[in-house]
Amino acid sequence: MISHADVAIVGGGVIGLTSAWFLAKEGLRVVVLDQGELGAEASWAGAGILPPSSWEHAHTPFDRLRAYGRQHFAAVSQELLEQTGIDNGYRVCGGIEFLGGGDEALAEEWGGPGVERRRLDDAAAHALEPLLAPHLGDAIHLPAMAQLRNPRHMKALEAMCRLTGKVELRPRTMVRRWQREGEGIALDLEGNVLHAANLVVTAGAWTGPFLEQTGVRLPIRPVRGQIALLNPGRQMLRHVLAWGPRYLVPREDGRILVGSTEEDVGFDRKTTDEAIADLVALATRLVPALAETTLEKRWAGLRPAIAAGLPAIGPIPFIPNAFVAAGHFRAGFQLSLGTARAVVDLVLNRLSPLPLDAFRLERFA
Ligand SMILES: Cc1cc2nc3c(=O)[nH]c(=O)nc-3n(C[C@H](O)[C@H](O)[C@H](O)COP(=O)(O)OP(=O)(O)OC[C@H]3O[C@@H](n4cnc5c(N)ncnc54)[C@H](O)[C@@H]3O)c2cc1C
Repeated sequence: MISHADVAIVGGGVIGLTSAWFLAKEGLRVVVLDQGELGAEASWAGAGILPPSSWEHAHTPFDRLRAYGRQHFAAVSQELLEQTGIDNGYRVCGGIEFLGGGDEALAEEWGGPGVERRRLDDAAAHALEPLLAPHLGDAIHLPAMAQLRNPRHMKALEAMCRLTGKVELRPRTMVRRWQREGEGIALDLEGNVLHAANLVVTAGAWTGPFLEQTGVRLPIRPVRGQIALLNPGRQMLRHVLAWGPRYLVPREDGRILVGSTEEDVGFDRKTTDEAIADLVALATRLVPALAETTLEKRWAGLRPAIAAGLPAIGPIPFIPNAFVAAGHFRAGFQLSLGTARAVVDLVLNRLSPLPLDAFRLERFA
């Protein structure tokens, strides 16, 4: 166990582990601390939808951050597979967004500027997905929609961090107190002290309380999302189907994730019969043949929701060499590669291709 690191990362979700890997690629020695198991919170629970995005056409800060990821996800997934032997399930499966579930603006948001899309009537939607219910109304086809399988991606990231030989992973290690120590940071780990030249806080929904001791107010709160997993035993769908903020994500083995709720219930990740029944009802409404399907599993995760929408990625005001990357709400996987790139640029104090000013914490002062 090392006592001096170049970077200490608090939180081993998708943002923390991707950042640790990218920092290690730059030759830095990193320690990742998680109060629980690595990748077991929101990052395990999510659906892994990766909407299409075009780097050339992305102009808003959010679009740039997302497009950076979409530009690199295929290569990153291939690298993870080659190095760790773990297939994270990254597949370009296409998506169908029904306009009856929300409005066209939402479909625009998922599509993003410069993204291939085609309007579908009922007949055209059936040609793509023959088991759809009739008369669901017009929809948008997004051929470049992709997905990955969260638990596998997290396992691959963990294995990749170990393979670098530069990252020490410490699950079941809660960081309660920390303080400035010259130009660096000292973290109190229940008896041990870890000295780090830099601190990166990637504590998801817990980031607000974690920063309280600094006097920095970061309005991040947990928003529960429940998921029902159906297992029809055969492949019935190929595309991600989106109905407003809810969706069906078909996996290659035939399983279908149905998500998700948005609930303000604090740090409570129980599931409820009512919400799961609503999700299953949506699934059978869109695909009636799912009516006979068994519910294999149900779970919930706590999304880190942030006031003002954009995630917080930047220096912690008045504390040198301390940074935050949190508040990714419904988009943590889509934004994970861009965020990790931003973290590297911040720690190494170098120019970034990403519009980092838009994500600074000073917005909340
Ligand atoms: C149901 C659901 C569906 C989703 N679907 C999608 C999707 O399709 N596409 C997409 O891009 N995103 C999706 N998301 C969002 C995405 O999962 C999150 O934005 C992302 O996982 C956040 O990652 P994180 O690393 O910031 O947080 P987390 O994964 O929650 O990790 C934070 C970690 O910090 C640790 N921690 C906290 N405090 C401390 C402390 N004091 N000391 C040590 N460790 C600490 C926690 O134990 C935790 O492991 C979904 C989320 C949910 C819940």
